[in-house]
Amino acid sequence: MGLTKFPEVSDKVSILSHVGPANIPVSIDKRTIVNFQEHYFNTNHGEFVVAVKGDIEKAQWPLVRIQSVCVHAHIFGSLLCDCAWQLEESKRLIANSSEGMIIFALDHHGKGIGLMNHFRIYTEGQQKGYDLVIEAYEKLGFKEDYRHYEEVAAILSWFNVDKLNLLTNSPRKLKLIESYGLEVKHSSLEAPHNAYNIDELSVKKDKLGHMISSSVESQNQHLENNLST
Ligand SMILES: [Zn+2]
Repeated sequence: MGLTKFPEVSDKVSILSHVGPANIPVSIDKRTIVNFQEHYFNTNHGEFVVAVKGDIEKAQWPLVRIQSVCVHAHIFGSLLCDCAWQLEESKRLIANSSEGMIIFALDHHGKGIGLMNHFRIYTEGQQKGYDLVIEAYEKLGFKEDYRHYEEVAAILSWFNVDKLNLLTNSPRKLKLIESYGLEVKHSSLEAPHNAYNIDELSVKKDKLGHMISSSVESQNQHLENNLST
C-alpha cells in the first residue's frame, strides 16, 4: 500500500461545529476531584476536545496544553514516549491553577500522519533500528512534522484567549502559536527520563531543540532503578 502524501495546510481554517460544555469531574492524583468543562469542536482540519478549568475568558495568561492524541500512550500507557505523562501533568498543573485548558487534537496522531502511518513508523523503525522521531519519518517518505495550529488558534479565539502560558518543550510549537498573533509565554513540561523514553527524548533534545534541561544519563540510571523495584 502506498503512503499518503500530506499537503501543507493552506485553505482558511474554520470551526464547523461546537458542542458543549459538558461538566466532567476528573480525578487528580487519585486524591482530588476537579471539575472540567469539556467542549467538542469540529474544524475543517480535524476534531478537538477542549477541557477547560475556571473562567477562561477572564483569565490572565492561563495555562494551556495543546496535546496531540497518542493511542499508544493515552490508551495503553506506552512508556516509549512522554505523551501519557505530559497529559497527566498538564491536568494536574491546570487543576492546581485558577484557570487553564487542554486542547486535545484528535487528528494529530504521529505528528499528523495518522494512526495507520504511525504504526508503520513504529513497526518499520523498530525492525530497522531507526529513531522513531525523525529518521523513520524520513525513510518512509514523510516530513518530520505535519502539525499546524491554525485550528488551535481559532479555538483559542473562540474562548477569547489571546495571551497564554503554553505548557510545552517544543520551540516549533511555540513559534507557530506565536505566528498567529497570540502572546505566548511558556512553561516546561519535562517528563522524567527512563530506559524506555530515553531514545525519543534524546532525539527531541538533540535534533529538534526541545527545551529539555537535565542530564539524560544521570536521570536515566536513577529511574531505571526505580522502575525495576
Ligand atoms: Zn506518544
